[in-house]
Amino acid sequence: MTTSTLNTSRSQAIFGAAQGLMPGGVSSPVRAFQSVSGHPIVFDRVKGSYAWDVDGNKYIDYIGSWGPAICGHAHPEVINVLQEVIEKGTSFGAPCALENTLAKMVIDAVPSVEMVRFVNSGTEACMAVLRLMRAYTGRDKVIKFEGCYHGHADMFLVKAGSGVATLGLPDSPGVPRSTTANTLTAPYNGLEAVKALFAENPDAISGVILEPIVGNAGFIQPEPGFLEGLRELTKENGALLIFDEVMTGFRISYGGAQAHFGVIPDLTTMGKVIGGGLPVGAYGGRADIMQMVSPAGPMYQAGTLSGNPLAMAAGIKTLELLKQTGSYDKLAATTEKLITGIKDAAKEVGLPITGGSVSAMFGFFLCEGPVRNFEEAKATDSERFGRLHRAMLERGVYLAPSAFEAGFTSLAHSDTDIDATVSAFRESFAEIV
Ligand SMILES: *Cc1c(COP(=O)(O)O)cnc(C)c1O
Repeated sequence: MTTSTLNTSRSQAIFGAAQGLMPGGVSSPVRAFQSVSGHPIVFDRVKGSYAWDVDGNKYIDYIGSWGPAICGHAHPEVINVLQEVIEKGTSFGAPCALENTLAKMVIDAVPSVEMVRFVNSGTEACMAVLRLMRAYTGRDKVIKFEGCYHGHADMFLVKAGSGVATLGLPDSPGVPRSTTANTLTAPYNGLEAVKALFAENPDAISGVILEPIVGNAGFIQPEPGFLEGLRELTKENGALLIFDEVMTGFRISYGGAQAHFGVIPDLTTMGKVIGGGLPVGAYGGRADIMQMVSPAGPMYQAGTLSGNPLAMAAGIKTLELLKQTGSYDKLAATTEKLITGIKDAAKEVGLPITGGSVSAMFGFFLCEGPVRNFEEAKATDSERFGRLHRAMLERGVYLAPSAFEAGFTSLAHSDTDIDATVSAFRESFAEIV
């Protein structure tokens, strides 16, 4: 039954050499597989729902480059448009018409967005939106939730979820206490705690930022009334509501989680999917707030490569593909079939499991649940998850290398892929129980 035959010798050699070249051998920490005590797989190429490593092994991929590959990796139409656009150059440092096209698509799709500014990553979008919240309200404090990740800017590195959590860093050295003194935290789904923070800090809180569905502390959904409650509380207190939709934007629905839940924030950050695999982030929202951004207004924010034609073209094509009739029904059906199969397989061998999915995002915890916040998520058996992760890799399934990450499906994941994945889970659960 056990198939410890996976040969990853070239991956190990390349990763070994990388150790002396880049800190931890990677360009971003979670890729190092530390929280599953394993050796990272070095990729050679990706296509559709699959990834191939440098040893020639093939995997069904449930990370999708952490979100962007929602149409499937290296979609032929995205590749084609990139090849066309690249002939005219990769970056202008001047306005280009493609920015208008993508801006219009984002404004039409996302209910809260009346104007948008493009940047190069989710981190940049979140940094800028925080400055904008403060500029607009004239207040310095911000409320975030334990386990929510808003990029690696100083002010947000407080109880920041997966990447930080799995390294065992409660915070990061190098972040001055004076910087995070203005960052207040509450447990996710803890409306009463937010109410208390507003009461303790009258007229001092610029706004509340959150992942409308959490993907960075494992997959955690908002309880009924939570998002609505935050909308009311922020309004009552003259504060702004910000949805960080870097992960959920164009993944939960074409209008993001805000369209799915019908709760409209003042400002929204985006990333991942809107770049179609190239580096793009964006923030947008009410026009009266966005008019504060330079050069329309006094809040400074800029970017050398922002809005470059290559990235805009990949984003536009990706959104066009997603907009086709039936895309989100297919994503939801695929993902639901997968998570149902996973949960049934765990129950067959008596393993505790809780989990779910919304559209093309899913997750599970190896505990009884329910899991409503990061504290409860930490009750999961992460040592056992590490063994599960290894067992799945050996069976050709590439899951996020941490118990505290969500999983992603794409339009390229077929019924055959899902069936093969569920079979692999059945065998792996039996092995680790
Ligand atoms: C990934 C992510 C970010 C950071 O985006 P980067 O492009 O990695 O800088 C911010 N917020 C959320 C919710 C994310 O998932």
